[in-house]
Amino acid sequence: SPLPGGSPIQTYLDALHRRLAPLREGLVAAYIPELAHADPAWFGIAIATVDGHLYSVGDTAQCATIQSISKPFVYGMALAEQGVERVLAKVGVEPTGEAFNSISLEPDTGRPLNPMINAGAIAVSAMIAGTDAADGERRIMAMFERYTGRTMAVDERVYASEARTGHRNRALAHLMRNFDIITGDPEPGLDLYFRQCSVLVDCRDLAIMGATLANDGVNPLTGARALAAPDVARVLAVMTSCGMYDFSGGWIYRVGMPAKSGVAGGIIAVLPGQMGIAVFSPPLDSRGNSVRGIRVCEEISADFALHLFHTP
Ligand code: GLU
Repeated sequence: SPLPGGSPIQTYLDALHRRLAPLREGLVAAYIPELAHADPAWFGIAIATVDGHLYSVGDTAQCATIQSISKPFVYGMALAEQGVERVLAKVGVEPTGEAFNSISLEPDTGRPLNPMINAGAIAVSAMIAGTDAADGERRIMAMFERYTGRTMAVDERVYASEARTGHRNRALAHLMRNFDIITGDPEPGLDLYFRQCSVLVDCRDLAIMGATLANDGVNPLTGARALAAPDVARVLAVMTSCGMYDFSGGWIYRVGMPAKSGVAGGIIAVLPGQMGIAVFSPPLDSRGNSVRGIRVCEEISADFALHLFHTP
């Protein structure tokens, strides 16, 4: 039966949201022109537990593009479809300490260092595209739908905006074509990458996606398996070392949870065996992470002693 006065977790989240909403630091991403229309005041927090409870406060039904938060999920899909060795042959698992759009390729092989930087994610999307990018997109949408439990769609305006202006990502794709990390025409895989980044999610979706990873790959609300447990561990490993751009070291030190952020202002953090935490707030710091998102996760981690390497 519900506690008098409501859930203490909900009360906590309401207070946290109220306290951090006035934060005015950070800038909405504008290098993809269509993203500049986001409202800097949007702010949602959602938590989904592995036993299927969902807590949310603020703008948790506001949809935005998933952007780089797509990367770990599409990486997991590549592991499932192609196997670890084939994926590792194309994309490494070492952190770069460099920005998300860095040209971090191994000098001799052209292999991108990890699947969380754009180069690595584009190489992964090219593997998924294979010889039939339209089928790759169908499989990616079906994959996201297993994680969210609902029908997903692409924001065609954001997609068109990025496809038109993504010269750096296009250059990365062609550079990797030069090294045969991408084989054949690099454009279909690049296009698939732009489309996967433009999938619309709300904060609640992100929390459930995180909870699915926390639950060994089974969506706690639908019971559907989205990913096999050994691949979940691999996905969480790269999120731990590489998920927060060039703040990945500082993040795991301070917050202590595998996580991934995206330039539209989302962050998803995963506490294995327990919960997925999602924050949506578009203003970003200089490394591209949501300012309120980082603060929320730092505070939740500290207040509930959730740091993975802290034994209560
Ligand atoms: N689609 C964006 C890009 O490739 C994703 C960047 C991000 O979220 O980090 O620039």
